[in-house]
Amino acid sequence: MKRALVLLNQAIRWQDNLLLAEQAGFDQLIAVLILDPAEYLNSEYGIKRASALRLQSQLRRLLDWQQQWQQQELVLHLRIGDTSLCLQQLAQHYQADALIAAEPTAPEQYQQLQNCGLSLKLHDLNSLLQHQLRPDLATLPKSFSAFRRQREPKLLVQQPKFYGISSQFYGEPEQALDQSSKDFISQHHNPNAALLNEAAALERLEQFIWQQRAVTHYKQSRDALDGQWNSSLWSFYLANGCLSACYAWQQVLDFEQQQLANESTYWIRFELLWREYFRWQMRQHGRAWFSKNAFRPPLNFSAPHADRRFELWCKGQTGLPFVDANMRMLVQTGWMSNRGRQNVASYLIFELQQDWRLGAAFFEQHLLDYDCASNWCNWAYIAGVGNSGARQFNQIKQALTHDPDGDFVRRWLPEKTAAGALVHWPEAKVIVQDFWRPYLQQLKHKA
Ligand SMILES: Cc1cc2nc3c(=O)[nH]c(=O)nc-3n(C[C@H](O)[C@H](O)[C@H](O)COP(=O)(O)OP(=O)(O)OC[C@H]3O[C@@H](n4cnc5c(N)ncnc54)[C@H](O)[C@@H]3O)c2cc1C
Repeated sequence: MKRALVLLNQAIRWQDNLLLAEQAGFDQLIAVLILDPAEYLNSEYGIKRASALRLQSQLRRLLDWQQQWQQQELVLHLRIGDTSLCLQQLAQHYQADALIAAEPTAPEQYQQLQNCGLSLKLHDLNSLLQHQLRPDLATLPKSFSAFRRQREPKLLVQQPKFYGISSQFYGEPEQALDQSSKDFISQHHNPNAALLNEAAALERLEQFIWQQRAVTHYKQSRDALDGQWNSSLWSFYLANGCLSACYAWQQVLDFEQQQLANESTYWIRFELLWREYFRWQMRQHGRAWFSKNAFRPPLNFSAPHADRRFELWCKGQTGLPFVDANMRMLVQTGWMSNRGRQNVASYLIFELQQDWRLGAAFFEQHLLDYDCASNWCNWAYIAGVGNSGARQFNQIKQALTHDPDGDFVRRWLPEKTAAGALVHWPEAKVIVQDFWRPYLQQLKHKA
């Protein structure tokens, strides 16, 4: 009897999931899902890796997925513990000697799979560039523009597939959960946590593209700081393996062919290519991304030093309302717009003079769409380490452009009562930057 474990982490979906298909060479497949507490409860640089909101959201998604298997009378083994150890224990129990899994981008997760001592078969389920499109890491272009120019003209993304579930799946129902996982669940499960699962992803896709046709104005609206239909909000699902990037891509193409193609429909694919670029960049340089200058030599993994300014930034108490409002939104909801992320990152790095890795670690803690490559590479990109030049934002100018009436700031900082754009005025404790001055003048005129 030849058995393999099938690890469904990063593949929490029925659609376009090769891991569910018939696997040649095996008689039985054992479905497994693991939550490794180290990725949530440990700290890096003294910052806990996940907020209660992020942990609860992941736990809810995993339990929901296990329940969906149960409803089909199939056993999905859920384990909460060290990934390699859990895999070894299950392999021993079922006498399995192989592991089939989604290919991770996070170096830590890759290492865990390698450490379990099973023969490994990885499928890249979450990239656009799969199979024959897979880039050669040795010749990967250094900039996004070069990557896009090279890839876009011949980009025929793999058609998403619905494989159905292989009849090889097997499991003993009493093995679905072990005692220590049950204990962890009873301590951390919150049935009211956001359920960001595949059903929610498909509903969001359908609404955003076909019902609301929000994809047709995406390029104009994507920089908004909040709002239901301004950007896709697909990141929750893409980051957690509930939505296939190929499926999202194909849906946009279908809309373009059947309804309308314009610069907005193109632009959402352009953004999916950014995600793609960072995935391959992360694979190319691996752990070196976590060095102070990213992969630029000499590598320096020493922990960054945080001072009081970092603490105030985390709490949304810097005194610069535009930054503080975005930070409060992040901590309270687990989400921040792309425009917000760029601005608060730039402020932490250039005005507050803190190491970019502290900000990346804080985002990792809070973002419900946390994705190792998208997060750490975007932070490095703004800091100007790795491949990029620094990108400093002018927060006063940005506030005037993206929150001209100050409504966003007043929503998240109820203590700010100044009318209109004047709410963006920095508090006395903020060091006024010279390049803000012309925009502060504009603020005064608006008052
Ligand atoms: C400092 C910083 C940290 C970030 N951390 C993360 C993270 O942990 N996880 C994450 O998914 N995104 C991250 N992003 C990228 C981006 O901000 C989010 O993907 C986006 O805001 C999510 O909202 P949306 O799904 O509505 O995006 P949309 O604007 O609708 O874009 C569609 C999809 O394209 C992808 N995308 C868009 N912009 C980017 C980008 N700059 N980089 C990579 N992919 C992109 C996402 O998958 C997104 O869902 C970060 C950006 C910055 C500046």
